[in-house]
Amino acid sequence: MKLITVVGTRPNIVKVAPLHRAFNAHPALTNLIVHTGQHYDARLSDLFFQQLNLPAPDYVLGIAPGSIPQQTADIMARFEAVLLTERPDWVVVVGDVTSTLACALVAVQLGIRVAHVEAGLRSGDRRMPEETNRLLTDQLADLLFVTEAAGLENLRYEGVRPHTIHFVGNVLIDALQQCLPRARALDTVRSLGLERHQYILMTMHRPANVDSADGLRTLLQLISDTAQQRTVLFPMHPRTRASLTRFGLLNELEQLPDVRVLEPQGYLEFLNLLDQAALVITDSGGVQEETTYLGVPCLTFRDSTERPVTTTLGTNQLLSDLNPNTVRMRVTDLLAGTRQPAAVPPLWDGQTARRIADCIAATLS
Ligand code: UDP
Repeated sequence: MKLITVVGTRPNIVKVAPLHRAFNAHPALTNLIVHTGQHYDARLSDLFFQQLNLPAPDYVLGIAPGSIPQQTADIMARFEAVLLTERPDWVVVVGDVTSTLACALVAVQLGIRVAHVEAGLRSGDRRMPEETNRLLTDQLADLLFVTEAAGLENLRYEGVRPHTIHFVGNVLIDALQQCLPRARALDTVRSLGLERHQYILMTMHRPANVDSADGLRTLLQLISDTAQQRTVLFPMHPRTRASLTRFGLLNELEQLPDVRVLEPQGYLEFLNLLDQAALVITDSGGVQEETTYLGVPCLTFRDSTERPVTTTLGTNQLLSDLNPNTVRMRVTDLLAGTRQPAAVPPLWDGQTARRIADCIAATLS
């Protein structure tokens, strides 16, 4: 059976790497990779293909930066041409980005079956573009691969046909397991003049946090309060950098004492920093899961999480009360607290991509 797997952004590449290997290792499957180009630059894309041992994509759609509707339209038109040429049996989409929904929609319109990896996650916050992508992709998919128990409940509640839903675990953790030995062999932390647990690692890029001047001011306050307790390392997403520049706030941030703004890190370098951080503060979906797996304390700068297992079993806590005193106390407590051994959620065992390959191959019979 021929599969086409879609990547559009940095986290998609990480998740597709174990899938591509598992698909091509399966005797009944062959996989092609289509890169929509939603994030297509050296730091967010090429380096990730290299580090995750992926071959170059079979097709690059070359989508230009633009609004969500514009990118959706461009991706759909160009992906249709690929599907008409290749006529795959399945289109596999991962996560919750613009490319995920756009490609699922084209496939359905051409009568090609869709598998959604990381299905069923819901933040309940319809203001997030990712939430719309999750809800609609799950309505379109013929196979839905779920990472945690909450995903099963959400899909059942929404009336998705039970036989299409499979609880298989988390491909992000497959990738992490495959890459961790190489990441640990790097000296990223030491090359910054730091030791294990001497710093807080920060990532921020969600529109709600970085697209407005008010959001950025709140973020600056959070960073300056946090940096009073330990050095903050901030590998900055291009979206965040562009927004700080637009509102004239980048200098202010760079001049805060004990804050080090870094370029976006390669996956291996980032895992090296994550693994040795005293604490992580983030608004990323994937980072909440990676910290849970590694047992690193994590504060998520959002009102809700679509990944609740990271707060019930894992190390993640939501940070929505931004009163400076509250933030200071929570950071102090986490820095002082004894670390619990990591409780790894069910099926986050490095075998998820293989389970997905088996499930798709079983549709042959
Ligand atoms: N990541 C990385 N370098 C960085 C920041 C993040 O390699 O400088 C990785 C991180 O380990 C995770 C993924 O990128 O696997 C998360 O991507 P992002 O936060 O952009 O997306 P989200 O998970 O929120 O969709």
